[in-house]
Amino acid sequence: METITEGHAMFAPPVAESQGPSAPPAGMFDSMPGYEGTLAGGGGFLPPPMPSYPAPQPSPGPEHPQWNIPSITEDTARDAFILYASSKCCYSSAPAKNGVITNMEAFNTYRYRLETFTESRSTEWSHEPYHGQPVDAYAQQPPGPWEIPARAPVFFKDDEQKMKVPYTSSMKPCHGCVGMGRKPCKDCAGSGNKVCWVCNGSGYRHGDDRCNHCSGRGRENCIHCHGQGSKQCEICHGKQQLLVYINLTVKWTNNSEDYVVEQSSGLQVANLSKVTGKELFRDSQYMVYPLMGFPDPTVVQAAQRLVGDHQARFSQTSRILQQRQTIELIPVTKVTYTWKGKTYIYFVYGNEFKVHVNDYPAKCCCSVM
Ligand SMILES: [Zn+2]
Ligand SMILES: [Zn+2]
Ligand SMILES: [Zn+2]
Repeated sequence: METITEGHAMFAPPVAESQGPSAPPAGMFDSMPGYEGTLAGGGGFLPPPMPSYPAPQPSPGPEHPQWNIPSITEDTARDAFILYASSKCCYSSAPAKNGVITNMEAFNTYRYRLETFTESRSTEWSHEPYHGQPVDAYAQQPPGPWEIPARAPVFFKDDEQKMKVPYTSSMKPCHGCVGMGRKPCKDCAGSGNKVCWVCNGSGYRHGDDRCNHCSGRGRENCIHCHGQGSKQCEICHGKQQLLVYINLTVKWTNNSEDYVVEQSSGLQVANLSKVTGKELFRDSQYMVYPLMGFPDPTVVQAAQRLVGDHQARFSQTSRILQQRQTIELIPVTKVTYTWKGKTYIYFVYGNEFKVHVNDYPAKCCCSVM
């Protein structure tokens, strides 16, 4: 009888070996009603069935949001600049401290973000060493892939859950060792020993000296199988039998897309991905309704396009669980200042007052004054 070892086998990667030379034969998998297309090693995602209840209708977002525009003061701009200069070891702080601000221009920018939180499901045939797990294939028809309850996800957070599809588990002899639990050692061709590498099999060294590595046998024990000639099968971990089952993977994904209104400030839009803005609008529900009444028409158009695109794209292969749309106003201020008779520019942007500079006037430690 086998001894039942708890734990380690359950957590072995279920399909890591199934694509290699030790891939299980197709005949090992039974035909399961509702899962006929399931392959070993993973297949495509399963489209969700049409909901049997009417889908909830989106409702318009909050009314009368505040669209007002914050601006920063000269002191804030200068402080941010000094902090920035002091964070660079080769920048003198003199231009930041003593430069004279001659102009501040706001290029505040809207960022519209649509997040679509989806659940997708896929199945694959898997196997693991058998150590007494319940065998339930054909006890009942397996539930459909979208009927199996998964845990409640945290909205807008990527996550994954794997589980066995009920009523698909059966016990099969291991295909890796033909149910023996052990396989002949490849390194010694099953003999358990090899030609001694020191004396090359003669048993002697330097004429009549007996080889002390192999004590004159001419052969030495194989270190790979400890002289046994066979090794434990790595597929069944020596259990001889496998539990074969359909594995269901439930995957939650937050699909996020941004639209940032282009400005002529000279600051690259890519800089803005690292900062936050003032949140002007937030609407989260099962399916969002495209934005209406926002003062910037390019944002309204982008929102309409993204909402339509997400709802069409993600409902094909997954189930949309929740959507969220936000609009942030990212403060961007272009500051012009003079230093030693020349004019320079820097940008202060985001709630974090991040600074971007194209040409800092006193960059090297040795040319400060
Ligand atoms: Zn030897
Ligand atoms: Zn060996
Ligand atoms: Zn095996």
